[in-house]
Amino acid sequence: MKKFAKILSFILSIVMLLSVTACGDKKCSHSYTSTVTKEATCKETGVKTYTCGVCGGSYTEDIAKLTTHSYTSVVTKEASCKETGVKTYTCGVCGDSYTEDIPMLPEIVVQSESVIINVRQGGSIVAGFVVQFSYIDNERTTCYLLNETYTKITFNMYVGTFGYNEVVTSCRYTIKVYDENNYVVYTNSYYSMELGPKETSYENITLSLPKPLVGGQKYTFKIS
Ligand SMILES: [Zn+2]
Ligand SMILES: [Zn+2]
Repeated sequence: MKKFAKILSFILSIVMLLSVTACGDKKCSHSYTSTVTKEATCKETGVKTYTCGVCGGSYTEDIAKLTTHSYTSVVTKEASCKETGVKTYTCGVCGDSYTEDIPMLPEIVVQSESVIINVRQGGSIVAGFVVQFSYIDNERTTCYLLNETYTKITFNMYVGTFGYNEVVTSCRYTIKVYDENNYVVYTNSYYSMELGPKETSYENITLSLPKPLVGGQKYTFKIS
């Protein structure tokens, strides 16, 4: 048995020696497998390492920088109805940055600040309404922005009654929006809630415009 083990060990060493010789030999027909040893980013090239599974020889290869960035954006200048704004995009990895214009806001001019609607009975005025535009956001008196496409604009309407002891159940008023060429781009009628004598209420009116208002253009809002 001992002799057999010796022979076996001898054969094994020969086989190992042969295989080492074969791999150490310049004629090793390498069998490479590759792994990414360093991921490429948009800032730095990456590295791919090829290793021969037979002799262990290896070499590396550069991986080209990524052409895509990881941008985040901030508004660096707010748009107004007079000037475009600026949005700045910066890559958090390599610091590359570019800017994009924010379109101008539409300018809104309220022409009829206050409208009085009288309620007549037998030829004489028995009650009346005052309807008045007031902006919800007082900081923007001429530019108004509620959403990105300017299709929804919310106004605060002040509706008050005056006069006598009549309870007037409805007050109808019309809001019209004109563009620069005096073309009506929006018109709609509204009814206020029931109001008693000398009552007031504030109503939020949201105009859903059929077409978005165009930035940099002037629109006139009228109530009647
Ligand atoms: Zn090899
Ligand atoms: Zn980058």
